[in-house]
Amino acid sequence: MIKVSIRDLMIKIYNTLTRSKETFKPVKENRIKLFVCGPTVYDDSHIGHARTYISFDVIARYLKYRGFSVFYLQNITDIDDKIINRAISTGNDPLDLAREFEAEYLKDMEKLGVENVNFYARATEHIEEIKAQIETLLKSGFAYETDNGVYFDVSKYPDFGKLSNRKIEDLNVHRISPDPNKRNPEDFALWKKKDVKPVWNSPWGAGRPGWHIEDTAITEEYFGPQYDIHGGGLDLIFPHHEAEIAQMESASGKKPMVRYWMHTGFLNVNGEKMSKSLGNFITIKELIKKYPPEVFRFFTLSTHYRSPIDFSQEILEQSQNSLKRINKFYETIDELLNIETSTFDQYSPEESSPPSYIPETGENDEQFNRLLEETRIKFLEAMDNDFNTPLALSLLFDFIRVINRNVQQGTISQKPLLNIKFFFNDISNILGFNFTSTSENSKNNLTEELVDLIVDIRNKLREKKDWELSDEIRSQLDDLGIILEDK
Ligand code: AMP
Repeated sequence: MIKVSIRDLMIKIYNTLTRSKETFKPVKENRIKLFVCGPTVYDDSHIGHARTYISFDVIARYLKYRGFSVFYLQNITDIDDKIINRAISTGNDPLDLAREFEAEYLKDMEKLGVENVNFYARATEHIEEIKAQIETLLKSGFAYETDNGVYFDVSKYPDFGKLSNRKIEDLNVHRISPDPNKRNPEDFALWKKKDVKPVWNSPWGAGRPGWHIEDTAITEEYFGPQYDIHGGGLDLIFPHHEAEIAQMESASGKKPMVRYWMHTGFLNVNGEKMSKSLGNFITIKELIKKYPPEVFRFFTLSTHYRSPIDFSQEILEQSQNSLKRINKFYETIDELLNIETSTFDQYSPEESSPPSYIPETGENDEQFNRLLEETRIKFLEAMDNDFNTPLALSLLFDFIRVINRNVQQGTISQKPLLNIKFFFNDISNILGFNFTSTSENSKNNLTEELVDLIVDIRNKLREKKDWELSDEIRSQLDDLGIILEDK
């Protein structure tokens, strides 16, 4: 069905490092190594996080569609001051708390259809790799030890600031560890000496890794010192990604550590970044209680991944309506292809039931196939051009309008309809939609919510030691094919 020679097209990616769109060339032919900074797991994720992870999910999907083999790696920050502080305030063990919110994050991602990450690497399971990288940096003179920890000496790395386009002396150092024994105020911690648990032993005493080193230790372990794409939200460019480059390029001597740096714009509320600290957030769980997850995906993809999105109920409603139009179109095509007999009625896809006869071929087939081909090429060009999903979506709506008109007028036959259906199947894979009716989606969603509710009630009964009722609930759920395991 794909007639366009994909080889004639080229993917262009906006690279934060060079501040320009570049033709995409992987380090190794068609095997792509993609790393995206994962969450710090101390609370439920919000829809700002979801925006970033849906964007990279679509980027991974599209690269796969274009024939690349993609190894998509994400870290899980499961040790951090935020986790420890939250654990102290809730009376939990920090690592238990991290596991709990990691599980919640993975559930949220599954619900959002974010399913292309090949491996989630926990920081705490890579302490040896972290220590080895720090050791290398110490040996080669890029790092030094003080009473409080081990630091990276930014003065030894003249390229520091190349990603964020800042000079060392202009750097705003407020987030960097205050330690009077540091050589330069901008030096950042690789290892923090601590005596309060959780701590790990190291040649520099008990402690915990710094904020940036887990990512480079993890990517070095799975990808080596140089790879294709590194992603994350805009807020991570400085200091996090800048520090990653300094660490890895100094440790390996190989430049660039990453060929393409990709950053997503913020999801904002009234012009301000949605974030935990500002308290202006909506969790993924809250959102998908009200809207099918695909509506949020559509909302996300309606804006280019690098641009800011202002969150509003109104735009979410518009997204829901737009998605319904695509779903309705897909259903119509499906229904039309299943019709076998009788005459062709005048048909309005929005209002009436489908016509009862569609000829197998028709005199306009060539014309429809050409239109489909043109739309397909434009769609691919839009996606090739730094993953321009809003343009790609708008092309689909133009196409739907023309085809709907022809369906109404009875001027389209089964052959082009079948080709259109294949095209929409491709689109559903690339953008991560499942073109079924949105009411079907929300029904599925409601069912999941109801099961969660019953499980919560049962857990409360168990806390009250009401074993009889909780066993009965389990057995009734069992009859419905829902197996509960008490751990
Ligand atoms: P964190 O757990 O805060 O490190 O965030 C995980 C990822 O979500 C990072 O790539 C952040 O840049 C991204 N992120 C956090 N808040 C937002 C937001 N409001 N809009 C878009 N991305 C965000």
